[in-house]
Amino acid sequence: MSIFSGLEEIVERDHPLAPHTWYRLGGPADYFIRPRTVEELRQVIERCGENHIRLYVLGFGSNLLVDDDGVRGAVVKLEGEQFGRVEFEGEQITAWAGAELSKLVLDCVEKGLSGIETLTGIPGSVGGAVRMNAGGQFGDIGAVVESVTLMDNQSTQFVKSKPELIFDYRYVNIRVPFILNARLHLTPGDPEKIMRAVKESWISKKNSQPLNTRNCGCVFKNPSGAAAGALIDRAGLKGMQIGGAMVSDKHANFIVARDGCTSRDVIRLMEVVQERVREQFDVELEPELEIWK
Ligand SMILES: Cc1cc2nc3c(=O)[nH]c(=O)nc-3n(C[C@H](O)[C@H](O)[C@H](O)COP(=O)(O)OP(=O)(O)OC[C@H]3O[C@@H](n4cnc5c(N)ncnc54)[C@H](O)[C@@H]3O)c2cc1C
Repeated sequence: MSIFSGLEEIVERDHPLAPHTWYRLGGPADYFIRPRTVEELRQVIERCGENHIRLYVLGFGSNLLVDDDGVRGAVVKLEGEQFGRVEFEGEQITAWAGAELSKLVLDCVEKGLSGIETLTGIPGSVGGAVRMNAGGQFGDIGAVVESVTLMDNQSTQFVKSKPELIFDYRYVNIRVPFILNARLHLTPGDPEKIMRAVKESWISKKNSQPLNTRNCGCVFKNPSGAAAGALIDRAGLKGMQIGGAMVSDKHANFIVARDGCTSRDVIRLMEVVQERVREQFDVELEPELEIWK
């Protein structure tokens, strides 16, 4: 542990990653690190840099598939108190990366702030949501983000704001590893009306998604002008199974992990789905979920 001497309290070796992901799949990380402060994060980045250790950043693992062999490097989770803070100043909110998105949505409803109720039902952290530009047909988080505080591989902290900060479908132009926090601008609204939107969104998700299963949300991005789920469905792949991985029969763009499932099963099933959709519709499906190998 000499690489991380002085940081032993926050570093674990050969730590299983499966419990940190929604799929509950995958092997261990060489190092699993939970910095409690920005200063500790800075030290972790420096030590990893000096020792050529690859850095991975973990949110709540709701868009992540970890290889069965795990990852060679250091997985960093920003979950200490400092990283879970949310500061409200009128219509402006500074939400730190480790804060829970769904709790933030409800806090905003309570305060009569509108703009992120469309993110109801999306699990994960604020950091993960910004990195993925999480959202759906009624909007994404990028619409309300004004700026982000970032940290690069040299542990330099800086702010990136719109218009330099650009969001697109499941994309943001952030090239450095760490999002520390995001500044959001919401608009005042009637809490009852906002709550109604939250409830409607929940009902729609409950009706269309296999919520009581181990899954990672949509596996593939929607190709331009089409819905990935509809193409997979039309290819007749609902219910298709490889090992313990199955294309959900409720929502064809979800792959659920059943008992005995491995990450390899999910990856093989994804490959077959891509192949069939390519053959039938000449469309290349691009993964939305991130795979750590
Ligand atoms: C049931 C279900 C429904 C879902 N529905 C939706 C939906 O409607 N719309 C949608 O967009 N997504 C959806 N998702 C996917 C997922 O919830 C989102 O992508 C979410 O924003 C991921 O957040 P996370 O904290 O879990 O990130 P993780 O899965 O842990 O990580 C995702 C990516 O973000 C990066 N990351 C995480 N934190 C940070 C940070 N602090 N700094 C830099 N990079 C970071 C990771 O390195 C990784 O690249 C769904 C998932 C599930 C399980």
